Order: sequence, then C-alpha cells, then structure tokens
Amino acid sequence: MFDFDGTLADSLSALVAITNRLAPEFGFRPTPLAEVEALKGLTARQLIRHSGIPILKIPALLRRVRAELHQYSATIAPCAGMPEIIRALSAQDHRLAVITSNTPEAVQAFLATHQLTDCFLSVDGGGTLFRKGKLIARCLEQHQLAASDAVYVGDEVRDIDAARFAGVRAVSVTWGFNSRAALATMDPDWLVDEPNRLLAIANQL
Ligand SMILES: [Mg+2]
Repeated sequence: MFDFDGTLADSLSALVAITNRLAPEFGFRPTPLAEVEALKGLTARQLIRHSGIPILKIPALLRRVRAELHQYSATIAPCAGMPEIIRALSAQDHRLAVITSNTPEAVQAFLATHQLTDCFLSVDGGGTLFRKGKLIARCLEQHQLAASDAVYVGDEVRDIDAARFAGVRAVSVTWGFNSRAALATMDPDWLVDEPNRLLAIANQL
C-alpha cells in the first residue's frame, strides 16, 4: 500500500512552485528549490517565521495552495523512478493499492496521466490523519490480506503511525516531505533512499 503525495507523486516540487508563485500576492519570500532540503527539519512555526508570511494571511494561502494542487494533480510529476518500480511490482503480481489523505480523484487523475491506473487494485483517500490508519485496515480487509503480508510505504512520520495503527510494517521513503533524520527517529521497519529497494522489500514479504 502506497501513500500518494511525496511517495508516488513529486508533490513537494509542485507545492514549492505553487507557493513561490503566490509569494508576491501574499507578501512572503519565495524559497529556491535548492533550499527546500534544509527546511525539511523545521516545524510549521519555524517555517512560517522563515518565509516571513504574515500570520493572518496563512488560512487564505493554505486554501489557495490546496485548490491549486488539486487543480494540477494530473500534471504533477511522479517521483523519479517510481512509475518503473510500480510497473515492475505489478508485473510480479504484487497487489498494490493507494491510501492517501488527498482525494481519490486527484490520485486517479495522476495515475491516468502516467498510465498506472491498471497497476492498482484500489485507491482510497480523504479524511483526517487518523483516518489513514483506518483506511489501511479497511484495505487489508477488502482485499483479504493478512497484515503480516503487507507494508505501507510513505514519506512522512505520520505514515509510520498510520501503518502501526493498522498493524502493518512501515516503509519510509526519504525523497518526500520529511527528512531522513526525522523518519529515522521513528524507527520504521525499512528506511529507503532509492525506489529500486522497494522491489527487494516486496520480494522479501
Ligand atoms: Mg506523503
């Protein structure tokens, strides 16, 4: 089971592009993509201070960013190497699903653009953070999978929590929204820097 934003889709680059485009309108400093890596360890509060965005403008900015991300979901680039890995896993008859806090529509648009629709049995999403764990549990039930045969692959610390909530092992990928160091603190079952390693993990299950 895969998370979507930051795991399959390079939403981080898209997010940086959108926020930087809105920077003049909302009165904050744009962030060069090269500096993003260094910001990954910051808390929301520190990020806000770094950007210089006026606090009162944050709710409106978040609404705009969310709407634009949704609007452009079909055109977000995949994370480098991931379409090939997904196709390889699917060709090896691994059963794949997407579980996201984004909307299933956004994921479906992305999958269609990159001809990955047929690789996934199901796409579930929406709702709050807590629901992600429940969606994982429901996905296992739906496809009659044992928790011990499945993993949840995600790019954030909260994905590790969601996996553990559902009793499945957590694979953390380091090319998304959270830093390698932040993920390592949570001691995921696998910490993966290269999409290729996912093939070895899948064949180990
Ligand atoms: Mg993610």
